[in-house]
Amino acid sequence: MEEVYGLIGDPVEHSLSPVMHNAAFSVLGMEARYHAFRVEGAEVGDAVRGAAALGIGGLNVTIPHKRSVMDHCDSLSDDAEVIGAVNTLEFDGGVTGHNTDVEGVRLALEREVGDLSGTRALVLGAGGAARAVVVALAREGCEVTVLNRTVEKAADLAELARGLGAEADHGGLDERSRAGEFDLVINTTSVGMESDETLLEAGDIEGASYVFDAVYRPLETRLLREAVEAGATPVDGLGMLVLQGAESLRIWTDREPPVGEMERAARKALG
Ligand code: NAP
Repeated sequence: MEEVYGLIGDPVEHSLSPVMHNAAFSVLGMEARYHAFRVEGAEVGDAVRGAAALGIGGLNVTIPHKRSVMDHCDSLSDDAEVIGAVNTLEFDGGVTGHNTDVEGVRLALEREVGDLSGTRALVLGAGGAARAVVVALAREGCEVTVLNRTVEKAADLAELARGLGAEADHGGLDERSRAGEFDLVINTTSVGMESDETLLEAGDIEGASYVFDAVYRPLETRLLREAVEAGATPVDGLGMLVLQGAESLRIWTDREPPVGEMERAARKALG
């Protein structure tokens, strides 16, 4: 019988998850299908209980339910607990909430940058993506500076990094022209998403080695073009997206995810 996996969120229409997971099932020879389900806030608990009752193989969770779904989990992984958000549900008799964004960004940075220990990293933004990025950087032994429009959120995130043993600092976006003083610059704000805006120009970036943009729509953001002009290596957000999906698949199936095929499918869908 065909197994069913899926995503709950609102909206879900433009998600790349169905494309990349269905590509993976096909490569793995699994009789399985991944669907995107639009679920409103008040229905999250019913959706989770219903999925468990129906024998759904596993679910991803996206905005705006990543925090509220925690109330419907029986247990949480360490990463979900630290981040305070869940993006993957495992139905294992109960409901376990995981957060694979941390491992996704860790693997993406390891792949593109290599060993991160001792790296001076600048993170722009302090929302959901930033939390995963900062936890991954702190665990890898980076020195982390978080700058955000809402400075209090940057302060909270720097505190989280210190709690994980990292040296961490914070500030407002008015300090962003210091980007060139860092080895690795990461944009986790939504600036540049479906627009040609950037928080940093080439002159701000000069001196940095890598610029990673978590935004993946478009793949080549203006920030990444500015990075190339500044002589830095650009890293797009697709690797993080695909690798977090691959980690979800590993949790659900215990099988080695075909990352290359998943990435090719997602890149093709982005056009
Ligand atoms: P979020 O929780 O809503 O956080 C948004 C962040 O962007 C906040 O720090 C916010 O600052 C900042 N921001 C928004 N508009 C801004 C503006 N005009 N000027 C300056 N700062 C602004 O969103 P998220 O879930 O972290 O997602 C952020 C981006 O990362 C999105 O483009 C998303 O697609 C991408 N993302 C990528 C991946 C991946 O796997 N590659 C994963 C998750 C997210 P305030 O705190 O001041 O509001």
